[in-house]
Order: sequence, then structure tokens, then C-alpha cells
Amino acid sequence: MAFRPVRSEAATASRGYISAATFPVSVTERLYLADDAVTTFEATVERVLSDPARIVLDRTHFYPTGGGQPHDTGTIRATDGDGDTPWRVVDTEMADTVHHEVEPTGDAGSSDEAPALPEPGTDVTCEIDADRRVAHSRYHTAQHLLSALLLDEFDAQTTGNQLYADRARLDAAYERFTDDDLDRIEARLNELVADARPVSSYTMDRETAEATLDTDRTRIDLLPDSIEELRIVEIAGADEGDEPYDRTACAGTHVANTSDIGEVVVTGRETKGPEEERVRFALAEHVDVE
Ligand SMILES: [Zn+2]
Repeated sequence: MAFRPVRSEAATASRGYISAATFPVSVTERLYLADDAVTTFEATVERVLSDPARIVLDRTHFYPTGGGQPHDTGTIRATDGDGDTPWRVVDTEMADTVHHEVEPTGDAGSSDEAPALPEPGTDVTCEIDADRRVAHSRYHTAQHLLSALLLDEFDAQTTGNQLYADRARLDAAYERFTDDDLDRIEARLNELVADARPVSSYTMDRETAEATLDTDRTRIDLLPDSIEELRIVEIAGADEGDEPYDRTACAGTHVANTSDIGEVVVTGRETKGPEEERVRFALAEHVDVE
């Protein structure tokens, strides 16, 4: 099989898959890796940066853009700020650590002089926009199902993916999906959703991952040598005791059960390149019904 770099998931792998243990202590603890359902949390400001205004926290549940999944948005406000207006988190990015890009809200946002960013050491209460996060988690989990079933039933490796809060696309190494193929893919996706299969995550050391994971599904060889521990996301098999339906390294957020995805519609396909197909899909509630 021709070499095909797994673009979006692997491109961010160098930062996405690194375990907390390999970071120096000053780096933000990324709480979303252990629990991707929490959207309200307390933290302490470690430092602030300007141009653009950014806040670094000691710990965060905000997901930074990576692995084809867009960043979280939300608010950060001083915990005992006596009704201070919150800062709006407009972007979250992984640089040396997680940067929360913020803008003033309310009256502060309309005045000429921007208010000062919170001092390092300030305790803050953070709230992630839950609707946007949940939508990303549903689409991301649907993408795992789609990647697994395309490999399983079409021998088509995923080469890239991008999700949004209302649609997603996936690129696969395949010559051409027919209309019948797309119908079959959609039916199978919805079967897997209806199966209500548990989705779980845990960490695995690299050596075990290399010995255990399907290398057509997870290109561990593309990860930098420095990564010694991977976060594994697993979708259970049909029955208890069965092998997992899917198991791959991923640092994104996902729902806890495939039934939380809801009905999926395959909305189209296009040729992405020689022997590369792009499949578009969306949750039924995001598709206009004619
Ligand atoms: Zn994922």
C-alpha cells in the first residue's frame, strides 16, 4: 500500500498525544484528557500574555485546536471578583502550553481602554460553551466510527479529517465510493450508533501501543520519538467480552456512548485526489430536510 501520511490527526500528534508526565511541572494540566464531559471548573492564573490577550492557567478543560477538532470557547472570571464581568475565551491554542485567547465582555468590551488581565495567582471560575463542546464530541466520535468502518469494510485508511459544530468531513484512501457505498456507510454508522456502544479512554505506553494497535488505523510510526505515552480512545465491541470495535490514539473529546451521537447523515462525497475520497457527513439535526 502506498505511503499516506495521516494528516490532521498525526500533524497535531506531537502536541496532542504527549502525556502530562513528560511536561515540566509548570505546564497546564490538561484535564479534558481524563474527563471530556466537564464544562465548569476552577483554576488559577499562571501568567498572562498580550497581543493578543491570553491567559495561561495551572489546569484547564478548554480543548485547544488539534486533531481536526476546533478549540473550545467560553468564559473566565475571577472567582471572588464581586460580579466582575468575565473574559470571553475566543480561541484556545496549544503553544508552549494551553493559551486561552480572551476578549473583554459587557461594558468593559465597549470602553476605549481594555481592562487589565487578571493577575497571576488569581483564582478563576471557567465555563466552557457546552453546546459547542458537545457537538464537537459527537462529531469526533462519529468520525472514529466512520474511520473504523471504512477500514473494516472497504480497506480504506483515513488520511485526514476535520470536524465543526454542525458538519464534518473525512478523507480516505479509496478509489471511488458509489452511491450504494454511501448508503451502506450511512446505514452501518447508524447501526453502530443504535448499538449504544460505550466509548472509553485510557493511557497506554508506546511499546504496548505499537504491539497492540492496528497500524492501518493509528500511524504510531508518525509520532515523534519523544512521545512515550499515548491516550487511547476505545469503542466497545458488539457484546461484552468482544474485542473493541475501534481503538486508536487520540487526544480529542468524545461522547461516552455511541448513542449520544444521534442519527448521522452522509451528505456527500467528492474526489480529493488520485485514490483519495472525501466523505461529508452531519448529524441529522444539522441537515436541512427538503
Ligand atoms: Zn478522537
